[in-house]
Amino acid sequence: MKGRDYTGSDGRFVPPAFDALPFFSLSSLQMSSPRKTSPHPSPRARRIGIHLSTTGGVAKAVEHAPEIGANTLQIFSASPRMWRASKISAAQAEQTRAARARLDVGPLVIHTSYLVNVCSQTEEVRQKSILAFRGEIERALALGAEYLVLHPGSYRGMTREQGLALAAESIAQAIDGLPWQGTAFHILIENTAGAEFSLGGSFDQVAELIARLRPHAPVGACLDTCHTHVAGYDLVSETGYQETMRQIEQTLGAETVRVWHCNDAKAARGSKLDRHEHIGQGTIGLEPFRRLLNDPEFAHAAFIAETPVDAPGDEERNVRALLALL
Ligand SMILES: [Zn+2]
Ligand SMILES: [Zn+2]
Repeated sequence: MKGRDYTGSDGRFVPPAFDALPFFSLSSLQMSSPRKTSPHPSPRARRIGIHLSTTGGVAKAVEHAPEIGANTLQIFSASPRMWRASKISAAQAEQTRAARARLDVGPLVIHTSYLVNVCSQTEEVRQKSILAFRGEIERALALGAEYLVLHPGSYRGMTREQGLALAAESIAQAIDGLPWQGTAFHILIENTAGAEFSLGGSFDQVAELIARLRPHAPVGACLDTCHTHVAGYDLVSETGYQETMRQIEQTLGAETVRVWHCNDAKAARGSKLDRHEHIGQGTIGLEPFRRLLNDPEFAHAAFIAETPVDAPGDEERNVRALLALL
């Protein structure tokens, strides 16, 4: 299946319509509305960005993105290491929307707090996680964010099947009653490095969780190149890349993948060690990123680096390293 281009004729970001997704294929068949396609995608049709700090406010982060060559970004909407979070004010939400419209920055991706574990065996932690994740969704909707990325969690103490069921139940509970309908908002389940008891170490597991969530929530996938590589998939050799993409197509479907986290890896393929490296300087190297960024199957996706910041200018260097591959 060919990837669709969700950029408008002028290269601006147009969020994909719900019925453009494979999991809404029934309704799209019934409605049979004509789809707009962009005959001449601009050279900046790809959405490329990086995780940025929101010190000074979300609107400031949005304004900073184009200064470093980015036209999309990821943020935390609250401290990722604290359970308590403050609400997004109406003024903050409005400034963010205005800055995004003015600068054509999008999609806006929010990464969920590291504390959230929707399949914890400890009931207290799971209840706190559901509440915190509900807050994440509320803030994402207030900010008009398209995507909220979630690590599926750790099922230590349970079977994988129990963990999967609990994760789906918790996420469905967290979004229950919130007004996401009619928005572009999607929860994206991220694949993990495949460490013991961590859910989502394979495309299969991510696909299974997404399938369970579809009746309850707008869902898609976020794939991380570092996690994919250290989980054991081959992105590096030409044939390995093709085989990995085939597996993505068979499990998730390329269109379900809304975001690619573009991170090189410090550790070896299959090591299950999640240590991000600067683009082109790790065990993945530049070529796989070139293939991915130019892959027509993912023309609709946003590519966002979560690379280390070891020195001033590292964020811009990593964005420019990705841009140079187009
Ligand atoms: Zn990631
Ligand atoms: Zn990671």
